[in-house]
Amino acid sequence: MAELLSIQNLKKSFGKSEVLKDINEKVDSGEVVCVIGPSGAGKSTFLRCLNVLEHPTAGKIVFEGEDLTQISDKQLNKLRQKMGMVFQNFNLFPNMTVLGNITAAPMKVKGQSQAEAEKKAKELLKQVGLEDKAEQYPASLSGGQKQRVAIVRALAMDPEVMLFDEPTSALDPEMVGEVLETMKSLANSGMTMVVVTHEMGFAKEVADRIWLMADGYIQESGAPNEVFEHPQTKRGQDFLAKVL
Ligand code: ADP
Ligand code: MG
Repeated sequence: MAELLSIQNLKKSFGKSEVLKDINEKVDSGEVVCVIGPSGAGKSTFLRCLNVLEHPTAGKIVFEGEDLTQISDKQLNKLRQKMGMVFQNFNLFPNMTVLGNITAAPMKVKGQSQAEAEKKAKELLKQVGLEDKAEQYPASLSGGQKQRVAIVRALAMDPEVMLFDEPTSALDPEMVGEVLETMKSLANSGMTMVVVTHEMGFAKEVADRIWLMADGYIQESGAPNEVFEHPQTKRGQDFLAKVL
């Protein structure tokens, strides 16, 4: 498989606090990586470094052959369009309809016509079972529906990789399943995904690889059955003993 993303000697500090200490990993095209680990481990910081929403203190993030930490803002913005991001709290625009939320970036950033953007948006909404919500505002949707719209909004940009930061953590328990199902179909369609999650069942079933992050390092990196059944580090064993 072709390498899509390479993380080399990544470090990130906030003042004196060194959150990411030295991370070296790769993501191949089509791969699904789940990032697990305790709260405060640096998982969100790490994910935000991947598309340089947080600027790394040191190291390289190589995406499509370019080191994202070294390029101009203009180049960065262009490459970032190929990295979709989904947040815990949906971050939908409250003053726009579902359709407006999904079509805004393809029209503004990619120069698509309204008709073209709406056609694509409706196809994607149909895939997640929300075609009847196109004209509604986010406030009228359930949390699970909002998150599926947020996923569609990211997909409307035709990303090469999707980054998820605890996409189900803000949801009522009965809505978690529908969002995980949407993510699972996306994974099955071949999308490259990096997913920070506490959903160990999802991670075991869907991930090609698990990165267990703690104390500023990726302590364990391997196939789900390796990491979950045979963690190599004390830190990994302690964390898994608490969550499994
Ligand atoms: P996780 O997502 O694994 O819970 P985070 O990446 O959110 O962890 O946070 C890791 C550490 O970095 C925490 O101690 C947090 O307080 C700190 N941190 C995160 N963002 C900032 C920031 N913008 N400024 C200062 N400290 C931060
Ligand atoms: Mg986090």
